[in-house]
Amino acid sequence: MLTAGNLKEYLNEIEEALKNDFQRRTLDTFAVAYRTGRANAFAGMDVPSLVQEIARAKDASLSRLDELYREFKKRAEAMGVKVHLAKDSMEANELIADIARENSCRNIVKAKSMTAEEIHLNTHLEKQGLRVVETDLGEWIIQLRKEPPSHMVLPAIHLSRYQVADLFEGVTSKKQDTDVHKLVKVARRELRKEFVQADMGITGANFAIAGTGTLGMVTNEGNGRLVTTLPRVHVALVGLEKLTPRLKDALRLLKALPRNATGQQITSYVSWITGPSECLSTPDKKKIMHVIFLDNGRRKLVRDRNFSQVLRCIRCGACANVCPVYRLVGGHKYGYVYIGAIGLVMTYFFHGRDKARLLVQNCVNCGACREVCAAGIDLPRLIKDIHARILDEEGHPPRSKLLGMVMKNRSLFHTLLKNMRFAQLPFADRQARYIRHLPAVFMKGQDFRKLPVLASRPFRDQWEDIKPRVVKPRTKVALFSGCAVDFIYPEQMAAAVRVISKGRGTALEHPRSQTCCGLPALMMGEKETAREVARQNLKAMDPEEFDHIVTLCASCASHFKHSYPKLLEKDRDLEQKVRTFTGRIIDFSSYVQDVMRLSPMLLEHSGAKVGYHSPCHLCRGLEVRQAPRRNISLAHEYVPTDEEEVCCGFGGSYSLSFPVVSRTLLAKKMASLQAGRISTVATDCPGCVLQIRGGMAQAGRDIKVRHVAELLAEQLKD
Ligand code: SF4
Ligand code: SF4
Repeated sequence: MLTAGNLKEYLNEIEEALKNDFQRRTLDTFAVAYRTGRANAFAGMDVPSLVQEIARAKDASLSRLDELYREFKKRAEAMGVKVHLAKDSMEANELIADIARENSCRNIVKAKSMTAEEIHLNTHLEKQGLRVVETDLGEWIIQLRKEPPSHMVLPAIHLSRYQVADLFEGVTSKKQDTDVHKLVKVARRELRKEFVQADMGITGANFAIAGTGTLGMVTNEGNGRLVTTLPRVHVALVGLEKLTPRLKDALRLLKALPRNATGQQITSYVSWITGPSECLSTPDKKKIMHVIFLDNGRRKLVRDRNFSQVLRCIRCGACANVCPVYRLVGGHKYGYVYIGAIGLVMTYFFHGRDKARLLVQNCVNCGACREVCAAGIDLPRLIKDIHARILDEEGHPPRSKLLGMVMKNRSLFHTLLKNMRFAQLPFADRQARYIRHLPAVFMKGQDFRKLPVLASRPFRDQWEDIKPRVVKPRTKVALFSGCAVDFIYPEQMAAAVRVISKGRGTALEHPRSQTCCGLPALMMGEKETAREVARQNLKAMDPEEFDHIVTLCASCASHFKHSYPKLLEKDRDLEQKVRTFTGRIIDFSSYVQDVMRLSPMLLEHSGAKVGYHSPCHLCRGLEVRQAPRRNISLAHEYVPTDEEEVCCGFGGSYSLSFPVVSRTLLAKKMASLQAGRISTVATDCPGCVLQIRGGMAQAGRDIKVRHVAELLAEQLKD
């Protein structure tokens, strides 16, 4: 579990986690297999529509939680179930301990329940002298190790069979075979004894159907059925957000849950419990059944317009499965009780700011979690919003305050950038265009890649010299360069200008008062700065004046499209303008393929083998996948490589704050590219160029790294 109190300690913990080769190999293997398994499980289904339906239905249920609770209570109590509402963890823990005491229970068996983890139920019950045994295999293993789950669905995924065999040796006092099937048999034998002697069973529930007072449970091991049937007392602890009006709502969730969680069409056991079952050891021959609904901040969260979507979560764990950072560091360093992207957000609401502060900074903003979420939760945005909220509550650090102040003043910001090129002169290898060395204080942890020098002349200062003159324009295009292209790689935009100019009658403009898109500010939690620069860019690039606004930076484009409407939602006077603006934004590759329809006749084919790195904000942010690959194929031989859509680890300021993670993600990316036997790798984002090119240069690899615009421009016939 995360114990770090500050960023330095957290980075040390991450460094330690990265040394765990077994965990990294396991999570890698799982992540790759999961991708295929999920795709197969959903084959033939309209997944986006299903996700939308789930989001809509969940929102509708959440808007009437109290009503659903009352209905459930009425139905369930009519059947003899006692239904409670616990306002917080303490109340839920005490209620359960009281139920155990009232019914003279001593031995408790438990099925897996994240809600029970949320309130640290076992610790509380054990302090009351009760004996609690987890019966889900993974949960039992981690209980024996006295550690929290490292995944919401696969709690012991971080452990090898050798570790488990050692553990079981301690339990049985016998040497254990490391064969997985034999280990499962050991667990079964040991746990059977517990089921038989237990007088109370505790479970969670995946669904609570208000209309019938029914609980629904989805498990893979069958232990849930034993927990709910063998002991004479059954207590179900259920988050209020699990309430749903009817069975058909639960069945809809069931379509997505196993498929998204583990790539299974259906889990092994789906159990429905409507009222107490028969029980020969109670006076009225009926099981004693209690359902405790947990609030713990949920009813307040429902009223939060921005964050209420968190409660749509169906705990499938998919957002961890696809997260490149989780895949490296594992759940104990990527969550508190709840793990993965949703864990980063929930930790703040259920376990407090102190536990969330470091976690929310450890997101590279790759968008993989949003793409896979069964409930359509905009996880990356919520993670950034929590970060901003924590800074607002605790005060912004001087570094980000200064950045915010400078970025809001465009001319100061650009003057500083221009002047920095003089400051870098003593440290620069101008021929190779890399920083040779920097004082140690700046280079700490950054030596995994070479850093580029600033260009001697930014694109904005070159524009008047290279601007194509068009007499009778048919299309007007604004070029948005973004800071990296403008001040580090102006040649990328110059290349784009050469390509786009091949479109007849296309007039290009580079509006001079454009400024940073604002994403770096948002990543640092400076939401107000991000909002202010958004307003400035809207003014600089009036969408009414252009047919298209083309950018070479996938991150800027995705930020324009997705963040601007949210950032400026309170600027009612800008509503229409924002809509038009986001509609005009287009990435370079899509512009070339879909608007210009660049003819291969205009290009020489090089025959060079070119791989592709798909920037996160292009493939997931804008859902642009084919256009760049088609562009490469126009002039070169495109060679697919492994995991093209997995993050390269740049993430802007993320790579400065979390260099250990950035370095490792980059190493994996470079290994995949090298395995492809390519001479060049193309990408559509200057940030990815910086990261991969710097990594290749530092490692002495001879794979060239180019923007797609450059690869096309170089092959243009005169
Ligand atoms: S955006 Fe990417 S890095 Fe951040 S939590 Fe989601 S998957 Fe993980
Ligand atoms: S946030 Fe989405 S992907 Fe993550 S566990 Fe919840 S439903 Fe699944």
